[in-house]
Amino acid sequence: MRNLLLLAPPAAGKGTQAQLLEKTYGIVPISTGNLLRQASKRGDAFGKKIDAILKSGALVEDAIMIDLLREQLQALHGSPFLLDGFPRTVAQAKALDALLDEAHTSLDYVFLLEVPKDVLEKRITGRRICEVCGTVYNVHQKDAPSLCHCGGSLVTRSDDTKAAYQIRYGAYLNSTYPLVEYYEAKNLLYRIDANRSIEEVFASISAILNRGEKHD
Ligand SMILES: [Zn+2]
Repeated sequence: MRNLLLLAPPAAGKGTQAQLLEKTYGIVPISTGNLLRQASKRGDAFGKKIDAILKSGALVEDAIMIDLLREQLQALHGSPFLLDGFPRTVAQAKALDALLDEAHTSLDYVFLLEVPKDVLEKRITGRRICEVCGTVYNVHQKDAPSLCHCGGSLVTRSDDTKAAYQIRYGAYLNSTYPLVEYYEAKNLLYRIDANRSIEEVFASISAILNRGEKHD
């Protein structure tokens, strides 16, 4: 089976790899953030409860996330999936394992996209966004323009600063490292050098999936 989890620091290219996995292998992305937003819009008691939690800004309990994932797994009828945004803690990873057992399925591969922190920091702090149309550029790109193609000025977003990135990266390390150890112990973790082109990173992931076998 090809049920996956991608772990990656912010700006490591996780979204792009997820799109390629969907296009190439039909692996359905499951974003718990999207599931919550969708559920909050349905008028039943469960939806209203979620809507209230989201509006209050409180964290959604693990049990609710698991209920949502259970529904989603049933809707997939055995199609391979890619989890995004869940699990974030070892407690959630354990709850997920129990859910997958109950659904007679499993998580098969956990890919950790590794990019050195200084590379990510450069990528983020080099990002510029057009004030008018929202196109994103990078000052480190070849031929980076000084103005957008639409004529708008290019500015730095407030969370693309070095200080903001340090905070996001620190939060990533704190929450992800326990998961890395957890999945390593279960022999499901694959480290991918993601400091390469999109195509090279995807080729590494594909090679593991196409081999069709897990760690010895
Ligand atoms: Zn523009």
